[in-house]
Amino acid sequence: MIKLIKAVYGMHDYFFPDTILWKKIENIIQNILNNYGYQEIKLPLLEHSELFRKSIGEHTDVIEKEMYTLLDKNNNSLTLRPEGTLGFIRAVIEHNIFSNNKRFWYNGPMFRYERPQKGRYRQFHQIGLEVLGLESPYIDAEIIIIINNIWKKLNITKNIFLEINTIGSLKDRKKYIEKLVLFWEKNYSYLDLNDKKKIYTNPLRILDNYKYNNIKQLNFIPKLKDFLNKESIDKFNKFCNILNIMNIKFTINYYLVRGLDYYNDIVFEWKTYDISNQNISKTICGGGRYDKLINNMSNGKNHSGFGCAIGIERLLLLVQKNQSLKLNLNFLIDIFLIPMESNSSFKKILVISELIREKFPKLRMIISYCFKSLKKQIIQANKYKSRFILIVGQKEIKNNLIILKDLYIRKQISIPEEKLILNLEKYFNS
Ligand code: ATP
Ligand code: MG
Repeated sequence: MIKLIKAVYGMHDYFFPDTILWKKIENIIQNILNNYGYQEIKLPLLEHSELFRKSIGEHTDVIEKEMYTLLDKNNNSLTLRPEGTLGFIRAVIEHNIFSNNKRFWYNGPMFRYERPQKGRYRQFHQIGLEVLGLESPYIDAEIIIIINNIWKKLNITKNIFLEINTIGSLKDRKKYIEKLVLFWEKNYSYLDLNDKKKIYTNPLRILDNYKYNNIKQLNFIPKLKDFLNKESIDKFNKFCNILNIMNIKFTINYYLVRGLDYYNDIVFEWKTYDISNQNISKTICGGGRYDKLINNMSNGKNHSGFGCAIGIERLLLLVQKNQSLKLNLNFLIDIFLIPMESNSSFKKILVISELIREKFPKLRMIISYCFKSLKKQIIQANKYKSRFILIVGQKEIKNNLIILKDLYIRKQISIPEEKLILNLEKYFNS
């Protein structure tokens, strides 16, 4: 008995029609990004491990638990990227591309060694936006407007809500963290085991746990906003004002901190509720400002940054659950070509098919090579969800004819070969 090899735990295969929906979502997003002048960049999946260790934050979940790290044959420690921003910043510094366009996007797989569940996988995909060197609440708002337009096009604005916050500067957060640690120490017994471990290593991240929503509502936990500098507060107020002008609904979540250490000032998350438990929300898209990241990773380059990433699998699940995008799956093949059993009809079909492909490059066409009776091949054409069948046999070759069968109105005609293209134009030129 051969032992079957299965996919790696937490990594998924996608098939039709999910792949069609996926592509449609990608196209919608990419058209919108193109419209706002964002340029695509392609980045490696593997990076030096220290790229992530240095910048994400030593005590974040991503670094402590989720990295896919391996040694190559030369004993270099490499990591499958858990997110896109750091590879992007690495590339921007390495190629010194600050003076060109300032708006970029990427699309591709990310890897995190997490406990798999619905919407949480070990390989997942993100489309990310990054803006460099532009520092204004207007550019922060531009990203929100773009993402909001994406939700509009995907028809999911009703199923998704925006939370924003400002986390100020590193200095502000240090002062706040001192108070927060004191608070967690006093309320140690309320914390779960996992969070108890985070008190001194990542006290901010404890705020993410939905279990404490009740305590948060009681206003017991110190709020970061009471520790922020005036400039950060002003920027945040302007940002909120722009969102109001643009009619974008949001709530301020004073406990929103984001999982990675490199953010400052404005952070945001677009979430959707879990239908089974309204206390749990899933983040579809998250991001924020990272003005010190480039400086920390380079020798003295000072460029601000702002970015976010959309989780494609979670978005796909949301679009599927709400059936918010309609796919036309009635016909998946435009023309199914059947050569009857003789060498000359195969040759004829091949020549004709290439001619049609040249005239109508967008048509989906399949030549049946299954060598069965005509009846069985027509059944096959129906299984493929074909719109037309084109048949050539000995009799047709002799009389220079082609049979065109319309599977929609269930009618068939014999047409002279030279009139085939003209006939197809009636259906496919619109
Ligand atoms: P979460 O709090 O759910 O773990 P995160 O804060 O770790 O999310 P980010 O690092 O901000 O997530 O990544 C941006 C988006 O990528 C998330 O909002 C989510 O849609 C998606 N994402 C992150 N981790 C996973 C995963 N393991 N599987 C599927 N999608 C993911
Ligand atoms: Mg996470």
